[in-house]
Amino acid sequence: MVNFPVRRDSGEVEMFTGYRVQHTLAMGPAKGGIRYAPGVSLGECAALSMWMSIKCAVVGLPFGGAKGGVRCDPNRLSAGELERITRRYATEILPIIGPDRDIPAPDMATGEREMAWFMDTYSQQAGHGVPESVTGKPVVLGGTVGRRAATGLGVVFCMEALFERLDWSMDGCRVAIQGFGNVGTVVARELTRRGASIVGLADVTGGLLDPEGLDVEEVIAWVAEHRFLRGCPAGEATTRQGVLRASCDVLIPAALEKQITAENAQQLECRLVVEAANGPTTPEADRILLERGIMLLPDVVANAGGVTVSYLEWVQDQQKYFWDADTIADRMRRQLHDALGRVFDAAERTAADWRTAAQLVALERLVEAARLRAIWP
Ligand code: GLU
Repeated sequence: MVNFPVRRDSGEVEMFTGYRVQHTLAMGPAKGGIRYAPGVSLGECAALSMWMSIKCAVVGLPFGGAKGGVRCDPNRLSAGELERITRRYATEILPIIGPDRDIPAPDMATGEREMAWFMDTYSQQAGHGVPESVTGKPVVLGGTVGRRAATGLGVVFCMEALFERLDWSMDGCRVAIQGFGNVGTVVARELTRRGASIVGLADVTGGLLDPEGLDVEEVIAWVAEHRFLRGCPAGEATTRQGVLRASCDVLIPAALEKQITAENAQQLECRLVVEAANGPTTPEADRILLERGIMLLPDVVANAGGVTVSYLEWVQDQQKYFWDADTIADRMRRQLHDALGRVFDAAERTAADWRTAAQLVALERLVEAARLRAIWP
């Protein structure tokens, strides 16, 4: 936990609190994003770092889990203030991060811009450029092609594999998405390209419903101009929560955690939930969905495309040799398909739901790694 002062544009000095939690170091360096949000806390970072351990282990990446963040409201901060927060936070946690220790990446409200500041701050201290110290950087600084869209594209690759297994068709499939940021936008666009119909969309300011399917490009153009969905003339207006109750085949929570709860789980009108966000379903809601026979593809697989391409970025940075977009997409798809295969096998073997099966696959690996390394000295 770190506390640090930052000068606001007004000249006032404000104290901020930041966190970085490393969950396990048995599998390799720790890996996970940095988020900027008012609700960031030690407990949340700890929980999310465990999620990252499970995610990396399911996909078979040589990392343990980490997560960090700064408690702040990024919507109320200027670019200059965000830069000063990022650089000071990076400096504060510098002793515990690094390409062989702990590699930060984007998460909520952070992206290429913040990762460039992060990488530069780390490199200034090292005395030379260290692109492999963070992932999710701009391509010109040693980032990888395809990282920006990776999480959303990974969600779509997982759905394609699952649909094949269920013998469902993407054509005409009705999808509702909560969250229209880096992940939700890519998912909406890519699913539309594959013939699905987006019947509901929402962001923090509200949502839109259209049983006939929204014009996704029109909504994206609106958001590009007005930043948020509120006021968008497409479809019928609803709330951020309202979109969860949309009648659809697939519901994709792609925003915050704890959105599908004991209160609303009975009202969902979907056949499948695909967790693009981390932890969008509470344990109570999980049980209700199971009882109702609603299938659920858990976050640790569904949104693992992001960290998988982060891994590919880190590898490219270390070898100083870069691959093209098709190679990145193919490798990510293969890695996710293999992970799904392991999860489905474990589910069949143990008659468990997919979340439990994913945790089982991950924990088997983590436990084996810890057992084999044994106790030092
Ligand atoms: N923040 C993303 C996640 O939750 C990506 C982490 C990474 O790329 O290291 O999976």
